[in-house]
Amino acid sequence: MKPKKKFGRSEGCKRCGRKRGIIRRYGMHLCRQCFREIAPHIGFRKYS
Ligand SMILES: [Zn+2]
Repeated sequence: MKPKKKFGRSEGCKRCGRKRGIIRRYGMHLCRQCFREIAPHIGFRKYS
């Protein structure tokens, strides 16, 4: 398991801090842009 980091913000992208278009679906707290970038790296394909 990966160690969980504490994030100062309860909301907002944990990668870039953006608060718009946040995807919390997989418990990642990422905005759509970041999700699209890291999705391939974490095993997700582009969501259509
Ligand atoms: Zn982001």
